[in-house]
Amino acid sequence: MDQIAENLAVVRRRIADAAHVVGRDPAEVRLLLAVKTQPVDAVRAALDAGADLLGHNRAQELVATGPGLAAPGTPAHEMHFIGHLQSNKVNQVLRWAGCVQTVDTLRLAQRLDAAVARRVAGTENGAGRNGPAVEDDGGASPLDVMVQVNTSGEPTKAGVDPAGAVELASAVGALPHLRLRGFMTIGANSPDVDVVRASYEALAQVRRDVLAGGAPGTGDATELSMGMSGDLEIAVAAGATMVRVGTAVFGARPPV
Ligand SMILES: *Cc1c(COP(=O)(O)O)cnc(C)c1O
Repeated sequence: MDQIAENLAVVRRRIADAAHVVGRDPAEVRLLLAVKTQPVDAVRAALDAGADLLGHNRAQELVATGPGLAAPGTPAHEMHFIGHLQSNKVNQVLRWAGCVQTVDTLRLAQRLDAAVARRVAGTENGAGRNGPAVEDDGGASPLDVMVQVNTSGEPTKAGVDPAGAVELASAVGALPHLRLRGFMTIGANSPDVDVVRASYEALAQVRRDVLAGGAPGTGDATELSMGMSGDLEIAVAAGATMVRVGTAVFGARPPV
């Protein structure tokens, strides 16, 4: 598990170096650990080494590891959902995640909004949206969300088209039980650095367009969640405020 602490330090250094190259403050870039397939012990080792932000992309795993990561003595942390969210999993995900980064249709946003509303009304038993450190507040506060944008145009990737992103962000911002925090993308899967960079710059452009549009409920949409183990430097250069890293910290995942 010392290896995890060591890897974490290497990744933090990569983020800091990448920020310095473009004159950014490294503190502007948060590190989210993508913990899919990792046993709770490995995740806890990362938390003990100072990680404070985790992301799950499978609802089933999120629910399975939730109690273990809520156990007494676990360092406080935030949990985000970063995978495709099926509508029948909304309530489970809300129970364990404080932010859903993968809103790419108005329909999903409306389902999330309705689920939070039910919780506010007290008919749903949603708990620790911010991990073990947060008491159940009865669901009075809105759920943080991001709009996922398909900036690469790759048909296998989820996300709203950049051309439709402003409209979706405005519609999400108008929902009373959601708080739009920003935008998320999975970068282009290409060996060509320019192609990858273009996909990250496209997300930064979406944020500019949305903030310039000034629609109600979009003023807090400042986050850019982009960049992974292999390309985080490119994302930081393009303005990432959150990089999502798995293998560079935990090692290669077993094939699923
Ligand atoms: C797994 C995952 C990551 C991290 O990918 P690595 O290449 O392992 O760093 C980032 N984002 C999402 C949505 C993921 O599912």
